[in-house]
Amino acid sequence: MIEEKSWFDKTVGEVARGLAGTLRHMLPSHPTFTTQYPEEKLPVPPGYRGEHVLKTDEQGRVKCVACFMCETVCPAECIKIVAGPSPWPDREKFPAVFEIDMLRCIYCGMCEEACPVDAIALTGVYNVVSQSRQEKIYDRERLLKNAPQSLHKYDPALSSQVRYPLPSAGGH
Ligand code: SF4
Ligand code: SF4
Repeated sequence: MIEEKSWFDKTVGEVARGLAGTLRHMLPSHPTFTTQYPEEKLPVPPGYRGEHVLKTDEQGRVKCVACFMCETVCPAECIKIVAGPSPWPDREKFPAVFEIDMLRCIYCGMCEEACPVDAIALTGVYNVVSQSRQEKIYDRERLLKNAPQSLHKYDPALSSQVRYPLPSAGGH
């Protein structure tokens, strides 16, 4: 049988219990879970699927061979590649144009899975701001530059493949 609370308990009692809870949280000994973002950032978990990076080989050349696998598999149809004749003798084609519309992307990671030469990867970057929709269409150079420091967090081997400086604009 449920015991009916008295009028006093339902009013003053509930207020007192609420205040006690608030005061408990104000004690210095109470653990704090607040992260002072953006000054503090939590580490990105391994395998996080943020913005893409186009990787380079040991000679600093873009690894992509313009095979169109990622463009074909992309469910959001947000990758645009135009193949050009390769300037290097060890491959036929390279991406003369490589664009990703980051606003259409659903960050599924299928482009990374499909790539036969490990040329594209999703990184831990999630906080790059922009002033226009056009800025979020990343071209080849922008993708090459994208956040090598985020790769350090979960695969140090990958970081050696990205030799470009960090992008100056954005929310890093
Ligand atoms: S993460 Fe998915 S949606 Fe985004 S570009 Fe790659 S395949 Fe397309
Ligand atoms: S990134 Fe990979 S899958 Fe996409 S076109 Fe280049 S080589 Fe092919």
